[in-house]
Amino acid sequence: MAARRLFRRFVLCAGLGVALVLAPGADAQDAKNLSGDGIPTPQQYVASVGGDSRVLAPGEFKLDGRRQVCGQRPTVIDNKLDDYGAAYPGFIIMNPKYLDKVSTPVKQWIYAHECGHQFRGPDEETADCFAVQRGRRQGWLTPEGLNEVCTFISPAKGDAMHFAGSYRCAYMRKCYDDPTIK
Ligand SMILES: [Zn+2]
Repeated sequence: MAARRLFRRFVLCAGLGVALVLAPGADAQDAKNLSGDGIPTPQQYVASVGGDSRVLAPGEFKLDGRRQVCGQRPTVIDNKLDDYGAAYPGFIIMNPKYLDKVSTPVKQWIYAHECGHQFRGPDEETADCFAVQRGRRQGWLTPEGLNEVCTFISPAKGDAMHFAGSYRCAYMRKCYDDPTIK
């Protein structure tokens, strides 16, 4: 899967097209059960995508043995997601099948980026910034790790929601180095 597909699903954070996720295999009942704003619960998501997808309670999800926490947000495991990760307001979706292919700091950055959407909303730059500052603060993102993240997103083409990888990388370096952020 080309890295430029990375984060496509994040547009769901902007409230666009829950139907894109729920349509395959979803029945009218699923649609009716959605909350008024059209956002599925983690359980509804799992019921919709099926397979071996499952919901992990907050604090249960690990990447390379490291516990990942995003407040009280649960993590949905979905090996059939067509991306590394995704987010709906209220929960994070991770695809271990893809994540297994990248290094630990890149994995953690992807999770933290999704977590950034939970706290800071749909803006991609803001989520990127949140992720690298969190990584620096928590000690899991070194300058070398940030280089790996930049390499990882470098093939990414810009689109309406996602600036080109090089631009995102420059912005993340600025955020990472921001001396006003402890
Ligand atoms: Zn995003």
